[in-house]
Amino acid sequence: MSEKSGAAHISTGDILREAVAKGTEVGKQARGYMERGELVPDRVVIEIAKQKLAEVGGSGYILDGFPRTVPQAEALDGALAELDLPLDAVVSLRVPEEELVRRLSGRRVCVGCGAPSHIDAMPNNEDACRACGGEMTQRSDDRPEAVRNRLRVYEEQTAPLIDYYRKHGLLTEIDAVGPVEQVFQRIVDNLQT
Ligand code: AMP
Repeated sequence: MSEKSGAAHISTGDILREAVAKGTEVGKQARGYMERGELVPDRVVIEIAKQKLAEVGGSGYILDGFPRTVPQAEALDGALAELDLPLDAVVSLRVPEEELVRRLSGRRVCVGCGAPSHIDAMPNNEDACRACGGEMTQRSDDRPEAVRNRLRVYEEQTAPLIDYYRKHGLLTEIDAVGPVEQVFQRIVDNLQT
């Protein structure tokens, strides 16, 4: 979506993984939470999101994986007001739990460029990254125990945002089961109407 629209892609998960890999102060604070599949404390992620939003230009932004708690959503409202940036839509991707577990536990990512794949698309487990030839590994938070924890955390801390944004008249719910291209098209069609 970012490629199509030119909007900046702001993924707090990507930013945190990079901080962990580089061993920065933020990375050291975040690492344990991420490996257990828990949320990194609000103050840490809010600061990251604010910094990135301050760099957004005229092509807009797509927040990915943020906000994940009501306090984060409230902080986002404040930051956007300060920066005079709009919030046009909030997209909730609906996927049944068993399909989520299948996707997450089978996901592999490239150590070189971060491109994702799935074991179902990798006939032998040794397959190299299609984009750069790098080695494919499993994210530590895609292991079964962490996946279960992430789903629990979603229900407890993130699901309340559905109501939060519905009340604000911003929520678009998308059936996200099916091939990537179809889900992508559903999002585009919904945002254009
Ligand atoms: P993601 O790549 O979006 O699945 O995020 C991976 C992990 O990074 C999450 O399981 C959390 O530990 C952490 N994380 C990413 N975004 C947030 C956020 N908005 N609030 C708290 N923790 C986050």
